[in-house]
Amino acid sequence: MFEKLALIGIGLIGSSIARATRLKGLAKTIAISTRRQETLDEARALGLGDSYTLDPIEAVKHADLVILCIPVQSYGPVMEQIGPYLEPGAILSDVGSVKGYVFRQMEPHTPKGVHLIPGHPIAGTEHSGPAAGFPELFINRWCVLTPGKTVPAEAIARLTAFWSDLGSNVELMEPTHHDMVLAITSHIPHLVAYNIVGTVSDLEQATQSEVIKFSASGFRDFTRIAASDPTMWRDIFVANKDAVLEMLGRFTEDLQAMSRAIRWGDADTLHAHFTRTRAIRRGIVAAGQESAEPNFGRDRGKH
Ligand code: NAP
Repeated sequence: MFEKLALIGIGLIGSSIARATRLKGLAKTIAISTRRQETLDEARALGLGDSYTLDPIEAVKHADLVILCIPVQSYGPVMEQIGPYLEPGAILSDVGSVKGYVFRQMEPHTPKGVHLIPGHPIAGTEHSGPAAGFPELFINRWCVLTPGKTVPAEAIARLTAFWSDLGSNVELMEPTHHDMVLAITSHIPHLVAYNIVGTVSDLEQATQSEVIKFSASGFRDFTRIAASDPTMWRDIFVANKDAVLEMLGRFTEDLQAMSRAIRWGDADTLHAHFTRTRAIRRGIVAAGQESAEPNFGRDRGKH
């Protein structure tokens, strides 16, 4: 389908794309570029591509699909480097978790004739690095594409087909809409997890060991989320500030309402609220976005 796929960044997401692309035969060759020699050696040892380089310019030469798989704060310098070497007709994409910010970083360095279609596979784990990837990561997950206004329909269709072949359901969105939706579905939940786990780490030693001992009762799932990559999440909150603050405002109001219900012993309000939220969970399972299995099926197929 593609002659040469260039992956800039080969961590969890980049290496999962490499593995799935290889498995499905979606590119004749896969060029891999990363920042550190250590990571490049690891990618080579895992046999993730056909060529390996620390020079992103080398990787993007003659590539008809280029995907940035690096933290979003590093887009500016990387785009500045590779921009002049992108091939006319090539598709330029990414996997960053915020879209308005990355569009602003990528667009000025995208030459005429190169089709800019940023993307976000809504799939991941709390693990990082080339060894953490696996080819099934994108199966039955959403991938949101946020194409520039002037991108031809054929280019969008080509990238849509690529992600469908990786197993994803593809949706097109405006970047700002994507950022608002992801702020509430992903960014605020991470912030809550970071906050709860942070509160525990500030507790005195004796209480802390009890929290760890009894963690199965709710806290454990938060620790999984709060173990997510610090660099990636730092970048997300800095880059999606407006949408996160907007959703955080609403979240805080609702939290205040709950705390009021608890203070006044308003059992009906609490019960009605918890019943409503239970229905949302069932809707997610019914939509195939989560499993009803014990531990939500997370123990299946894990590395
Ligand atoms: P990762 O496993 O930590 O891999 C990061 C990759 O980016 C590595 O190849 C790393 O290179 C490179 N990199 C790091 N800092 C860089 C810099 N300053 N300049 C150039 N390259 C740099 O990360 P990941 O989880 O795959 O995430 C990559 C992207 O996917 C992020 O933009 C994230 O928002 C997005 N994403 C992540 C998830 C998730 O759950 N993890 C889900 C959806 C989207 P070296 O190792 O050589 O330094």
